Amino acid sequence: MTGWTKAEPEGLRQTIRDAITQGKAGEMTSTERAGSPGSEIAYPEVQMHVVRPTEPVTGRVVRNELCVGRKAASFVRHVEIDVSGTPLEKSFRAGQSFGVIAPGEDAKGKPHKVRLYSIAAPTAGEDGNGCVLSTTVKRVLDENWEDHKLFLGVASNYICDCQEGDEILVSGPNGKRFLIPAKPEDHDYVFIATGTGIAPFRGMLLDLLNSGCQSRIVLIMGVPYATDLIYDDFFRDLESKHTNFTYVTALSRHNQPDGKGPMYVQGRLETDRELLAPILRSDRALVYACGLAGMELGIFQEMARLLEGEDLEQYLQCDADALADVASWTRKMIHKQVKPTRRVFLEVY
Ligand SMILES: Cc1cc2nc3c(=O)[nH]c(=O)nc-3n(C[C@H](O)[C@H](O)[C@H](O)COP(=O)(O)OP(=O)(O)OC[C@H]3O[C@@H](n4cnc5c(N)ncnc54)[C@H](O)[C@@H]3O)c2cc1C
Repeated sequence: MTGWTKAEPEGLRQTIRDAITQGKAGEMTSTERAGSPGSEIAYPEVQMHVVRPTEPVTGRVVRNELCVGRKAASFVRHVEIDVSGTPLEKSFRAGQSFGVIAPGEDAKGKPHKVRLYSIAAPTAGEDGNGCVLSTTVKRVLDENWEDHKLFLGVASNYICDCQEGDEILVSGPNGKRFLIPAKPEDHDYVFIATGTGIAPFRGMLLDLLNSGCQSRIVLIMGVPYATDLIYDDFFRDLESKHTNFTYVTALSRHNQPDGKGPMYVQGRLETDRELLAPILRSDRALVYACGLAGMELGIFQEMARLLEGEDLEQYLQCDADALADVASWTRKMIHKQVKPTRRVFLEVY
């Protein structure tokens, strides 16, 4: 794996700060509903669907590298795409996603449908000028349902196979909610990722830290084994340079480096409660979770065990019956008996 740190020219710092706080349109809007915790948070104006998947534009792959350890169980690649000269240039923000349309046709003879990929680049792009976006793609490998032969996911393998210089059809940007607020300094951040759910946090962290934001930021990264950690060197390097940023990993099928047993991401809310509880109990924290569908259940259960009363209500509004039996929560209860507030941001797929 290569180093992921990009040198930050001094002159860019203000430009980045401006990009984060103003967006391309230069406006801030308060888009939140009144009445729930987090309702006062203002978010930057974002552009969406400037390029429709039915009329995609051509980008060019300029970098494609493995971003997990050589012995990782899965193949995850960091892919950078130059979209300069297209409407996607300077149109995206960290936290949004974009579409990829693989060439060819599906089993019904129709063009492949668009697949979405989270933007891993900061808002200013990998190049600092909003021309190069990036993502973090895991090759989907499976057994075919019909004949149990190897099944290769269409878009993920297409992107991972791309060579530098190859053209690629892209659309977007997509998403207007999974964002850093317009005033980043007003908040502390707990980012929780499983697998490629790390992608948007790479961009958000670069936006926050490169702009000089002094907020407390914790990233919890969950994977099966240490070799599966994505951008591991990059995050360790960021942590060594920024005292306000803490990088915590959770290995689900192996003991932790500190000797603790296997755990999922939510396990860190318990083992690292001295770090996380004060942040979550303050009225500044925002919680972001991205990755495997279903990860939110365990996180919410652990939050309900860690926090009480008003502290918990900042993030979850729970029916009394549900609160009395946290262990029996199911995914179906989320958004019904267990409602995340506007201070919780979820992107699971
Ligand atoms: C908002 C959002 C952001 C995302 N961000 C990322 C990201 O940053 N990185 C990333 O890697 N992914 C991301 N994804 C997922 C991505 O969009 C794709 O779903 C993923 O890459 C799989 O697409 P594919 O074309 O390779 O697989 P597909 O060809 O679409 O197959 C998908 C699944 O269908 C099953 N399947 C279909 N047909 C068969 C068959 N005949 N036999 C067996 N199994 C079959 C397979 O199990 C496979 O897992 C994101 C999704 C969303 C919604």
